[in-house]
Amino acid sequence: MTDAPAEPQPLEIVLYPDPFLRKRARELTPAEFKSGQADGWSLAELVERMRVTMYANEGVGLAGPQVGVGLRIFVADDSKDNTGFFAVFNPKLEELDGALNEEEGCLSIPDVRAKVKRAQTLVLRGLDVRGEAFEKNADELLARVCQHETDHLDGVLFIDKIGMMAMHRLHKKLDALKADYERLRKLRGKPGAK
Ligand SMILES: [Zn+2]
Repeated sequence: MTDAPAEPQPLEIVLYPDPFLRKRARELTPAEFKSGQADGWSLAELVERMRVTMYANEGVGLAGPQVGVGLRIFVADDSKDNTGFFAVFNPKLEELDGALNEEEGCLSIPDVRAKVKRAQTLVLRGLDVRGEAFEKNADELLARVCQHETDHLDGVLFIDKIGMMAMHRLHKKLDALKADYERLRKLRGKPGAK
């Protein structure tokens, strides 16, 4: 088995309240798609590593800032058997319609779940890894994932969108995450994402 290609390695998830999660990610340029490179990343390798990171953490979506990458990319798969994978760059959400109030979580905010009101259906438009047009109709869970991940690209977290009662209920969990983060930050001796 010496000739088998190396499995892509999962990336480390940036955890709340890391300030990197609050930064707006930037769009990729046509030149970057042409070269297949941005911010020192091969775009194809970035997609692969985000894919394995999402599956390793049993997520349904993962955005660039969650792995310390300040580029407008997210990956998602709302299927039960890992057959629905896609990656989208420079995503735009259009034709949003309807409303659903369902429970949501986030790989960057472990063990915290709360109901968030989201559009029920939308059309996701963006670019694929080669910079070619990508379009997908999304409803229910997938529409929710698209909205959650696009929020990440704007530095917005789902806990920003929950009601006061839910915030009150989750206060202790969020404080515990803040304390964990501070402990780790002191251990590593520097703030922010790696
Ligand atoms: Zn998230």
